[in-house]
Amino acid sequence: MRFGAHIGSRGGPRAERTVIEEARAVGAELAQVFLSNPRAWAAPRIDAAERFGAAWREAGIGPLYVHAPYLVNIASPNPGFHARSRELALVTVEACEAGGAAGFVLHAGSGGPSEPGQARRRAAAVLREAARAARRTRILVELMAGTSGAVASTLGEARALLDEVGEERLGLCLDTCHLFAAGYALDEPDGVEALFEELDRLGLRGRLALVHANDAKHPRGSRRDRHERIGEGHIGGEGFFELLHRPELADLDLVLETPADREQRARELATLRRLAT
Ligand SMILES: [Zn+2]
Repeated sequence: MRFGAHIGSRGGPRAERTVIEEARAVGAELAQVFLSNPRAWAAPRIDAAERFGAAWREAGIGPLYVHAPYLVNIASPNPGFHARSRELALVTVEACEAGGAAGFVLHAGSGGPSEPGQARRRAAAVLREAARAARRTRILVELMAGTSGAVASTLGEARALLDEVGEERLGLCLDTCHLFAAGYALDEPDGVEALFEELDRLGLRGRLALVHANDAKHPRGSRRDRHERIGEGHIGGEGFFELLHRPELADLDLVLETPADREQRARELATLRRLAT
């Protein structure tokens, strides 16, 4: 298991220096970044992504993951919004390829509450294109927190989505906070066991490619996506101890996305490593 964190950067000139310096300062073995402003529609620049990737590899820290901008909703029922989301997602795939990213994380998005099948088909169409366009980078669907209209929050929904996409290389990113908010009892040993049983039962174990390790600010089943630092939320140290000892996660990368400054981040990575031993 390797441990890292999402490191804030909006791409652009010298973003790679900030990210490399921060990763080293906190003791990360990998990083997740945005390649463009996460709150804007502006596409990442391919040459900047290429430079970023080269500098990152040169630094010799570990794999690089890219997260899609927040605005992207590939399941949107609004045709204009869907088209812009598709375009930004696909340009970001191109940037990931140029930068040699190991994985590109995106959500399957949300449609209207009364059209789950159509929403899933819209998301699947974009994911299929993305998976076919990617060679070095693996496309990873991150499950959501059970919010209204979300295409994929549960493992069952993930299974239906992957079947719809029909691309074997498409992987899954599980976010512990999202799973907990969607109702999975990760705060209890039995709940953790049940999650991995379901993963096996649905034939998803081989698709599991990345974990977002976040504690949860709100109680189990809240359907609210608010991250808390490891051990300080409702999943708690015991829940993470169970998770970090699962053999299914032994070869995976973990990314922290909790609110933390440099000192807190370094401490949190140490906490994760302690819980994992
Ligand atoms: Zn996440």
